[in-house]
Amino acid sequence: MNAGAINETDICESGSQAPAATQFHDDAPAVAWLREAGLRPTRQRVSLAELLFDKGDRHVTAEILHSEVLEAGVGLSLATVYNTLNQFTRAGLLRRIGPTGSRSFFDTNTSVHPHFYLIGEDTLIDVPEPLVLEQMPNALPGHEIARLDIIIHICRKSRDA
Ligand SMILES: [Zn+2]
Repeated sequence: MNAGAINETDICESGSQAPAATQFHDDAPAVAWLREAGLRPTRQRVSLAELLFDKGDRHVTAEILHSEVLEAGVGLSLATVYNTLNQFTRAGLLRRIGPTGSRSFFDTNTSVHPHFYLIGEDTLIDVPEPLVLEQMPNALPGHEIARLDIIIHICRKSRDA
């Protein structure tokens, strides 16, 4: 599969992050891990990183993570959660996947891999088997491929089918 040659960084989406205000002094794994990504480990980033990455590979929306934030008793607004998810994405810690125009999922697995989007359930999951792609098309002259997303939208069969 030629797709393996694709550079996984999102060349066209890179940008700089806003500086953070407060420092968080802790030896939690999330602190070292944020520093490795070049992000200052503020209290809110550490809280969100722990919620995101303590549960293995997952796909969350800002709304899902915000409800976990509230459950954990962390006082962060939905806007802050959303901004922090975008900072993590720009730092290469998350991959943003948008199966619909209005909604983004954030994947803790940043490698190139195909997804199923379950239309009725508004859920994104990894395709459980390898996808064989015979040949990637060439980019347009003067362009290079920056990113590959494959999202297969699926719905439950009707009973008569
Ligand atoms: Zn995934």
